[in-house]
Amino acid sequence: MTSFNKILVVLSLVLFFCSCADKGVIKVKNVEEFNVAVKNALPGDVIQMANGVWKNTELKFDAKGTAENPIQLVVEERGKVKLEGQSRINISGEHLIVNGLVFTNGHTPASEVISFKKKKGVYANNCRVTECVIDNYNPIERMESTYWVSLYGKNNRVDHCYLVDKRNKGVTMAVRMVDEACRENNHRIDHNYFGYRQNLGANGGETLRIGTSHYSLSTSATQVDSNYFESCDGEHEIISNKSCGNQFIDNTFYECRGTLTYRHGNDNVSKGNFFIGNNKEYTGGIRIINKRNKAINNYFSDLKGYRFRGSLVIMNGVPNSAINRYHQVDGGVFANNTFVNCDHIQLCSGSDEERSAVPINSVIENNVFYHDNSDNIFTVFDDISGIEFKKNIIGKNLKNIDNKLTVTNLKVIENEFGFKIPQVEEGIGSTLVKPAATADNTGVSWYPKAKGEMQFNTGKTIEVKAGVNTLFDAIVTSQTGDVIVLSESGDYVMDKMMELTHPITIKSATKEIKPVIKSSKAEMFLIANGGGLKLQGIEINGAESPDYAGNSMVSTSHYSMNCNYKFLMEDCQVTDLDVNHSFDFLKVYKNTMADSILIRNCQFSNITGNIMLLNKEKDDLGIYNAEYVVIENSEFKDVKGSVLNLYRGGTDESTFGPALKIDGCVLSNVGFGKRNKTGSAIYTHGVQVNNISNLKIDNSHYLDLYMTNGEPITNLTNIEINNSKGFKYNNQSFTANGVKVNGSVF
Ligand code: CA
Repeated sequence: MTSFNKILVVLSLVLFFCSCADKGVIKVKNVEEFNVAVKNALPGDVIQMANGVWKNTELKFDAKGTAENPIQLVVEERGKVKLEGQSRINISGEHLIVNGLVFTNGHTPASEVISFKKKKGVYANNCRVTECVIDNYNPIERMESTYWVSLYGKNNRVDHCYLVDKRNKGVTMAVRMVDEACRENNHRIDHNYFGYRQNLGANGGETLRIGTSHYSLSTSATQVDSNYFESCDGEHEIISNKSCGNQFIDNTFYECRGTLTYRHGNDNVSKGNFFIGNNKEYTGGIRIINKRNKAINNYFSDLKGYRFRGSLVIMNGVPNSAINRYHQVDGGVFANNTFVNCDHIQLCSGSDEERSAVPINSVIENNVFYHDNSDNIFTVFDDISGIEFKKNIIGKNLKNIDNKLTVTNLKVIENEFGFKIPQVEEGIGSTLVKPAATADNTGVSWYPKAKGEMQFNTGKTIEVKAGVNTLFDAIVTSQTGDVIVLSESGDYVMDKMMELTHPITIKSATKEIKPVIKSSKAEMFLIANGGGLKLQGIEINGAESPDYAGNSMVSTSHYSMNCNYKFLMEDCQVTDLDVNHSFDFLKVYKNTMADSILIRNCQFSNITGNIMLLNKEKDDLGIYNAEYVVIENSEFKDVKGSVLNLYRGGTDESTFGPALKIDGCVLSNVGFGKRNKTGSAIYTHGVQVNNISNLKIDNSHYLDLYMTNGEPITNLTNIEINNSKGFKYNNQSFTANGVKVNGSVF
């Protein structure tokens, strides 16, 4: 902290205590005392919550302050008052300030944690929530919907809050416009730190939503400024704007997989925002739909997203659109923006039979597009004659759009803040030199920053010798990121199920040492909520396993997991899963989600069940069991079930995956067990990015690809199928190079 800031803090503390001394501080130690204090509160009063954990606490802060003398709810010491278990706060009345609350270690008993509403029709106006924290305050059911902050009423402000690790369905913050008393609300949402939000893998993972489609032609007039969004990866709408007259100013979007989406509503503007992708997959910028929406003087860098997650996406609309579909872009203005190393600008995106209304009366003006390693960043899906192009500049290496853009020899300099700025004539492109909102000037200073996603190999090393339950004992005492090293060859036999509640690695000490893990439990490893598993250089053998139909070697929790998990396996052998007729290798359950599953350099043989069925989301709502599945340089021999069934059903367009890569694999005698319900050796359904290469299939069931939803990408390269059922597909929207099926070139 600079000395100037220190003086400011001291000054503000002095002022704070002076005002307290004048008006009287009412100290409360429990809800009963809080209720009495609220009931008697007069303008200027300060209600102070005592240090400690307030468990299962429902605060109803219903009072009337004045503009000059608001009523405040504060804490004895910041960071030392925690609302845990099933707690929440409802704010209603006038001129109230809530400052310093922390919600953690639990979840709301209702649908909202911080609500600017007492009950239907009774709202907060002119109130403020500042320096509050909500940290991993989630129900275990990932598809149970909760909101963390819901703004109702008018003229409310939420600022300097730290909101991190939302895992279940439901937006992190919502501006609700349910009746007249909540419209033209002039709320301000500023200087908040929206921390990481894991991939929900379903609609409902937005970080901020303003309005809903139903009221989207009403004005909200909410100002969203100076906020920092980090890794907000819930779905492809980071912000879902669904109302009119909102402003998005000076926000920073750091490594967020999605876009600021003008989903519904007109006359919205975004200015001075930074979108920094750092080449993370699916990072995007702004997506435009509807009338007179603007994006001016924004800076976009290293964004990789395509289609609805492009860096600039101008959509096609639906003629005479229903209010919940897509209104035509009309009168859009996209000016003075700078795009540096952003892979995709998408015009007329979403063009199809239904979305046939192309953008009209719109202008793209004074923008700069620079890319130093791609020559083709523009995709035009339909007629762009309704967009006027004026004075835009592109680098020499970039493919033009019908000569509409001015080609210039652009040079890029890195400015003193580390941002790449293409050198162009004055007045063109963004004038921004650094983001206004940073991790340091948003959120709170007194709460520790969260760590982000789980990591393997970050803890200590634990050595384990062969024997009975030696590995089990090591797992019980292990901690997050630990590496358990099996230090000698021989059998590691478990008669207890190994439940993993945090990520761990289990590996052989050297290449020469050959540890074999056996288990007499129906499930060898169970990845519980928060757990993850990495296996390296070991053999897993089914010889000691019990004869329970449907047993497995690796399983997820049988119940909902609100933490995504990772399962990685390299240089391993899996043999003799054959003590009964349906012994699976990996078994997952509904309401679980893998960020990634990776199998590399492994050999599987003599297995009566399936290697992995990732097909437990059968509701066809665009939900699926794994985001990335990678199978490389591996062999599958004598498998009665299927090697892979990866399923994502439905037409929802909110999610990104799954993405599959199969490379360098050999299948022989796979899929002919009479219990193989999939009827294939490999089946994929609705996979969004499907790359299969260098695959050999002998004496096996079908390779069966069902391509659906959006614009799935399927590339097949060097595939040889012999003496097998063959290759099945529902349409020809794939590329095939060197694909040979039972003797004939495809
Ligand atoms: Ca959405």
